[in-house]
Amino acid sequence: MVEFMADKDTETQRLPYRLREPFLASTELALFRVLTELMGKRYSICPKVSLNDIFYIVRPNENVHFFNKFFRKHVDFLLCDMQTLTPAFGVEIVRPISKKEVRETDKFLEDLFTDAGLPLVHVPSSESYDPSDVITLFQLAVVKIGGTVPLRIETPTDFVPNCPVCGKMMVLRIDRNGSGVGRKYYGCMDSPRCAGVVSID
Ligand SMILES: [Zn+2]
Repeated sequence: MVEFMADKDTETQRLPYRLREPFLASTELALFRVLTELMGKRYSICPKVSLNDIFYIVRPNENVHFFNKFFRKHVDFLLCDMQTLTPAFGVEIVRPISKKEVRETDKFLEDLFTDAGLPLVHVPSSESYDPSDVITLFQLAVVKIGGTVPLRIETPTDFVPNCPVCGKMMVLRIDRNGSGVGRKYYGCMDSPRCAGVVSID
């Protein structure tokens, strides 16, 4: 009885986080295994990578709504060069279309990758994958992207940090009052709800 009480106390003192199981759904795990078998020597296969970690938004002051479109979204797998970890392919499992919303998300993801010059491989969801089918889908993605040159940093001022407090996009702001009038800095797009600030030297 005493032991039981002690356990309960320990339980209430734990933070309210628990491990999600499984980390990958069975369809994702099946594809991960095939990708590892086919390309595991050339690429590092990273599951569930946040789009916000792969791409940044140019001219963020004009493009705030584009941030809302991709924040908290991820791509199922990102294949990165083994040495440099430079992204080489995105791989997304396409679920059977049941809602209009799903289709729009897939379309958006495709446009996003294509415009940024990174091939995105769409793989129809399945419990097992044929390696030769997967290779064909990779070839298709490369053909689709054609001669698109990856658009990297256009000008140094195009690169904007993410908010150090909440991780959202930051926008350029100018101090309107106080001792630092005219001073430029990056403020969180969620200001004043979030106080995240990055100063510009
Ligand atoms: Zn913030």
